[in-house]
Amino acid sequence: MLMSKVIIITGASSGIGEATALRLAASGAKLVLGARREDRLAELARRTGGTFRVTDVRQRADLDALVALALETHGRLDVLINNAGIGPISLMDELRVDDWIDMVDVNIKGVLYGIAAALPVFRAQQSGHIINTLSTAGIKIVPTMAVYAGTKNAVRTISEGLRQEAGPNLRVTVISPGMVATEFASSITSPAIRTQIEAGLGSIAIAPDAIARAIAFAIDQPPDVDVGEIVVRPTAQA
Ligand code: NDP
Repeated sequence: MLMSKVIIITGASSGIGEATALRLAASGAKLVLGARREDRLAELARRTGGTFRVTDVRQRADLDALVALALETHGRLDVLINNAGIGPISLMDELRVDDWIDMVDVNIKGVLYGIAAALPVFRAQQSGHIINTLSTAGIKIVPTMAVYAGTKNAVRTISEGLRQEAGPNLRVTVISPGMVATEFASSITSPAIRTQIEAGLGSIAIAPDAIARAIAFAIDQPPDVDVGEIVVRPTAQA
């Protein structure tokens, strides 16, 4: 059950990661928080009684160090939430190739580095849970989101493969949020699309705690129950 589980959250410095940290801490989880903005992490660690380490998920060594921090502090790791992600979306004709590469580096490689760091620990413990944040962008593919959706669906495929290899002790969950009120649009480099997305988020986006509640539900199931996939979107989202 959730209480006293040791849980790593990447991308904990804002939005869904921050909301998840607050919710899980309120249920008694022991948190290890990662992201790049140290001031935000320090404040959240203070509020949640957790520990933190400045982490850039594009660096494999940073994920290794985050998992090491969990083991040093608590002697075990129960859940890794690969939540860090960026969405500098654009039309493909804009050829924002640097943004494409950034999305691959953060949204795919960052998740792989997390899995690589946690999997040996989970195998040694004979228990563990990996939760990867996808997006409804990967379910309903729309213009401007081709590469972003591609990164999320790469992680969907990787997660299903991992689940099939996992065996009886390792749980794998993917969660696909719809439009959520966070700082997500701040990573969009195309001004017109950023304005458009911010307007859309402003009108119907749900609070990040809606995603946190779903994540808590998946973690809180008994060990023989693996919640494979959750989709949580605004009721008004088309
Ligand atoms: P935010 O921008 O509020 O949060 C993103 C988090 O990722 C921040 O904590 C940021 O921290 C972190 N992050 C970004 N790049 C890196 C990096 N290189 N290394 C470590 N951490 C990084 O947006 P959300 O909370 O909305 O995003 C969380 C997840 O939810 C993402 O995977 C996103 O794709 C997904 N999502 C969001 C939706 C939405 O509508 N908001 C919809 C569907 C999915 P820092 O900058 O401090 O490093």
